[in-house]
Amino acid sequence: MARTVITGGLVVTAAEETHADVLVEDGRVVALALPGSQRWHAERVFDASGKYVVPGGVDAHTHMEMPFGGTRASDTFETGTRAAAWGGTTTIVDFAVQTKGAPLRAGLDDWHAKADGRCAIDYAFHMIVSDVNAATLDEMPGLVGEGVTSFKLFMAYPGVFYSDDGQILRAMQRAADTGALTMLHAENGPAIDVLVEQALARGETDPRHHGEVRRALLEAEATHRAIQLARVAGAPLYVVHVSAREALAELAAARDLGLPVFGETCPQYLFLSTDNLAEPGFEGAKYVCSTPLRPRDHQAALWRGLRTDDLQVVSTDHCPFCFKGQKDLGRGDFSKIPNGLPGVEHRMDLLHQAVVDGHLTRRRWIELACAAPARMFGLHPRKGTIAPGSDADLVIYDPHAVQTLSAATHHMNVDYSAYEGRTVTGRVETVLSRGEVVLDRGQYLGRPGHGTFLPRSTCQYL
Ligand SMILES: [Zn+2]
Repeated sequence: MARTVITGGLVVTAAEETHADVLVEDGRVVALALPGSQRWHAERVFDASGKYVVPGGVDAHTHMEMPFGGTRASDTFETGTRAAAWGGTTTIVDFAVQTKGAPLRAGLDDWHAKADGRCAIDYAFHMIVSDVNAATLDEMPGLVGEGVTSFKLFMAYPGVFYSDDGQILRAMQRAADTGALTMLHAENGPAIDVLVEQALARGETDPRHHGEVRRALLEAEATHRAIQLARVAGAPLYVVHVSAREALAELAAARDLGLPVFGETCPQYLFLSTDNLAEPGFEGAKYVCSTPLRPRDHQAALWRGLRTDDLQVVSTDHCPFCFKGQKDLGRGDFSKIPNGLPGVEHRMDLLHQAVVDGHLTRRRWIELACAAPARMFGLHPRKGTIAPGSDADLVIYDPHAVQTLSAATHHMNVDYSAYEGRTVTGRVETVLSRGEVVLDRGQYLGRPGHGTFLPRSTCQYL
């Protein structure tokens, strides 16, 4: 394996900002030194003067090839991980799905088969539990032993992924026994389904009604219930894609009590709003996801939560469906629009824009996008930081480059951009994954199969 040196950059981690040269050997960071102080011999030298050197992004919430509503997410592991690399993300944690009536094992095997040999960057899995029963509960410890240390349950989507409170309590108890982290989609699905039915009966079929029926109060209520169930189970809890200010308030209150309760939000809730869902024609379908986009005035609360550590992680919930042929399924009935947005490529850039805009510090950017997700899901310090011994998943980032996000230039396998025409300051210049150059100045050098499966240890915040 070649030796690589990155010289003269500002190395930014969650903990420090230091001007340093970085030496990479055998796929790992082996040393940092004062710029120019060491005469390291290396086959490859990257000059990062005037640039940042940051850890590769860790996106802890993606859905490649996810079946939903009679179709499947349009990015495969091959196209989705390539797009992630273009955006400076070098690790994804995707959700393996248990089909109702089938064992967890079958779902996990299925996901391994989809990802194996196809990923451009490293990957790991959470397990979606759609069918909590005695057999499923007995499978959980085995999965933890294989490095699948987090289980996701749904309070939404009755008849598909939904678990009732008793099932959630049982799964939380078992997860706690095995050291696993329970992830929850916190929305009151049965109540939402009533409002969907009533809206459709009134002839309210446009995409914007998706946002209206999935009331913020029903996210807050479910978040509150999830927290109380976790307390009763003695289990830690991670709430995915928090979008409503009222739900965030529930998390903040739990954390003020010292409970092991964590929360994630996503760029779409920080940069998009119900204004997008209300775009004329059927355009709003491009922004249909659950939890839904909220009115713009929720954004300030989410930014504040990210600063105060009431929210710890920003993931994408990348789950792309093409506008033509997939989102189309819901013309005339918003409840049939596949839920999900493309985003895996833009998370690092959008959060850097938040640094430019003054919402976050540089170190907090790296903490939310790299270090905290790595710690949350048992991948630290291999991933999420730049330190001797950590994987050489490194990004040279140009903080001054200006780019315009567009479907015409992105690399995700989807026919629209949720951020079409948005200009951001900052761009990925070079990406290394375990020391191999995946991307350099606009040239893609990665390959399917470079990425390997990462067995994870348990949550490192507990
Ligand atoms: Zn999701």
